[in-house]
Amino acid sequence: MMRLPRFAYHAPRSVAEAADLLARSAGDAMLVGGGTDLLPNMKRRQQTPSVLVGLRGIRELTRVATDDGLTIGAGTTLSALLALTTVREQYTGLWQAAAHIATPHLRNMGTLGGNLCLDTRCNYYDQNYEWRKAIDFCMKKDGATCWVATSSPKCLAVSSTDLAPMLVALDATVSLQSADGVRRMPVAQLYRNDGINYMSRRPEEVLTEVQLAKGDRWRSAYWKLRRRGSFDFPVLSAAVAVKLAADGTVEAARIVLGAVASWPVAATDASASLVGASLTDHAIERAAELAAKPARPMDNTDYSLVWRKRMARDFVTYALREVRGDDVRAIRRRISRALL
Ligand SMILES: Cc1cc2nc3c(=O)[nH]c(=O)nc-3n(C[C@H](O)[C@H](O)[C@H](O)COP(=O)(O)OP(=O)(O)OC[C@H]3O[C@@H](n4cnc5c(N)ncnc54)[C@H](O)[C@@H]3O)c2cc1C
Ligand code: SF4
Repeated sequence: MMRLPRFAYHAPRSVAEAADLLARSAGDAMLVGGGTDLLPNMKRRQQTPSVLVGLRGIRELTRVATDDGLTIGAGTTLSALLALTTVREQYTGLWQAAAHIATPHLRNMGTLGGNLCLDTRCNYYDQNYEWRKAIDFCMKKDGATCWVATSSPKCLAVSSTDLAPMLVALDATVSLQSADGVRRMPVAQLYRNDGINYMSRRPEEVLTEVQLAKGDRWRSAYWKLRRRGSFDFPVLSAAVAVKLAADGTVEAARIVLGAVASWPVAATDASASLVGASLTDHAIERAAELAAKPARPMDNTDYSLVWRKRMARDFVTYALREVRGDDVRAIRRRISRALL
């Protein structure tokens, strides 16, 4: 049985108190939401904070407001997120992304904030301590070499959060609070293409909430490739948000790929190709071709990287067809057994 290492635990009642605890622990403290990612990582000694700051007692982190668009507290569990009618009806892609995460038990514990700050993943890293020791560890933790690409100066571990690509596609923003104050940024700016330093969030900051603009005339969809339809991390995902004019032409579009790099990858050329066009088969096919180009999956997760890249085109096609209004339920059923 793998045991947790020793740590001190604090249970603050406010964000200000949590931020103060982080500031005082000088980089040796980590926040814990539901603990569904951090605690297994600690058991495997991938992450070894000596201080944990629990967020579950902070009520302000579970606030949901719908006055102007949608604001969701970072402490909201994934199950609570799925229960929000506004999410299901107006931000369908976000609902689909959340429904694809893990299992019901894990969604009851896992939070929005924890999902956005999820550690990057790699076959050489997501192993127990003894396994990693046997290969002399790797650059991401305790070692010097990247076993995926031995000449790589940086870690290539994969961004594996389901919500991040969808929230980038929806152009959401996040608030980060530290003892120095609050800053707000687009979700897209929260990430870096570096498997170790994969976030621009500072260690002393608490991610407090996610804000979404009103979903008027925007339609969205999320498609995820994984080995097991019941639960598994993504090895490829396509998040699509499209704003349609009354005559059906595309006013704006954002296509974002997940799990093909250390950050969510915005397929900007593909998105631009749709603007001013109708969602015809031809326009969708052209956008899907363009979208697959920036996908550079590495050989450090499930399935062959060549096939994953090829599937990027197919998954963007499915997502765009769904946004157009096609009935794609049969395809979804074939590849996924999520709540959908
Ligand atoms: C078997 C299994 C399957 C899984 N499948 C998926 C999957 O398919 N897709 C997927 O996306 N995830 C998956 N997960 C990972 C995880 O369950 C979810 O991502 C979950 O949403 C993480 O939330 P949490 O609150 O439990 O995070 P925690 O484990 O509490 O924290 C994760 C990270 O976020 C940080 N953090 C937490 N809250 C905040 C905050 N408010 N501000 C700043 N930092 C914060 C922590 O310090 C830690 O670094 C799976 C996990 C398991 C065990
Ligand atoms: S990509 Fe390389 S450095 Fe990063 S976790 Fe994998 S093996 Fe380690």
